[in-house]
Amino acid sequence: MSDLRDFAVKGDKKIKLKSFPTKPDDSVSKEKIIKKTQANLKKMGEFQDRLYSEGKEGLVLIFQAMDAAGKDSTIKNVMSGLNPQGIDVYSFKVPNSEESSHGFLWRAIKCFPARGKMAIFNRSYYEDVLVVKVHKLYESAKIPNRCKHGDVIAKRYEDIKNFEKYEYNNGYRIIKFFLNVSKEEQKKRFLERIDLKIKNWKFSASDVKERAYWDEYMEAYESAINATATKNSPWYILPADKKWYTRYLVSEAVVDVFKKIAPQYPVLSDEAQNNLQKDKEILLSEE
Ligand code: AMP
Ligand code: MG
Repeated sequence: MSDLRDFAVKGDKKIKLKSFPTKPDDSVSKEKIIKKTQANLKKMGEFQDRLYSEGKEGLVLIFQAMDAAGKDSTIKNVMSGLNPQGIDVYSFKVPNSEESSHGFLWRAIKCFPARGKMAIFNRSYYEDVLVVKVHKLYESAKIPNRCKHGDVIAKRYEDIKNFEKYEYNNGYRIIKFFLNVSKEEQKKRFLERIDLKIKNWKFSASDVKERAYWDEYMEAYESAINATATKNSPWYILPADKKWYTRYLVSEAVVDVFKKIAPQYPVLSDEAQNNLQKDKEILLSEE
């Protein structure tokens, strides 16, 4: 299993998270995969240049995962192939008071890039159907009772689906990654963060507490993915126990969406071409 299609969820059938692997098959060669990733990063840079020059379509990459699944280092790897002038990275933390006094999509809408540019979301509005669902945070939210009636989370799935459709209809593509780390690998990485002084800062007191809700989180991810995966805004459930493999599959998905966008450098009109020639003559006739 090393074909991107094996990890894509497009809403045509319901998935079970348990049937997705957290690591590559033994047959997968690390050396070959790293070479392919390098080639993909180069392609991504070329596509991004065209995307920017054309300025027609915007691209948003969303990363969601349990703690220590490798979101930060995967994002760093994606960025290494891209021109920082055409992309911004946003991290979504616990909402501040201004954010929580607005609708849950408000802070993300502000981060949508101009068409021609890209954005990476390190967490996103999906937190509002993940951590918020696991801890029922909506119960204590300052919102009218009518907004708490019925299934708050099911309504949010609908809102997200409609929002992503709205963005697609307005010239944006959104692809969503769930970095699927195993519980054992998370433990290993937490222990490393505790034992290695230079990694201590990455460990937060809440990490072990949240880990205790592992099964609830898996249920929340599975149901969010099933409710919001669509052909135009797919989810990718990527094995995350081996970072080199996650990076490769992310690069494959980004190249794949760029192929769908198929951005082209603008072709000048005849008049503009003529003007270029005139400018060329002026430059060449300089003393
Ligand atoms: P980190 O990304 O590890 O720096 O942590 C950010 C924390 O913010 C995570 O524990 C998220 O679950 C939390 N967070 C992000 N968005 C929300 C939200 N809408 N409501 C509550 N917690 C959130
Ligand atoms: Mg954390």
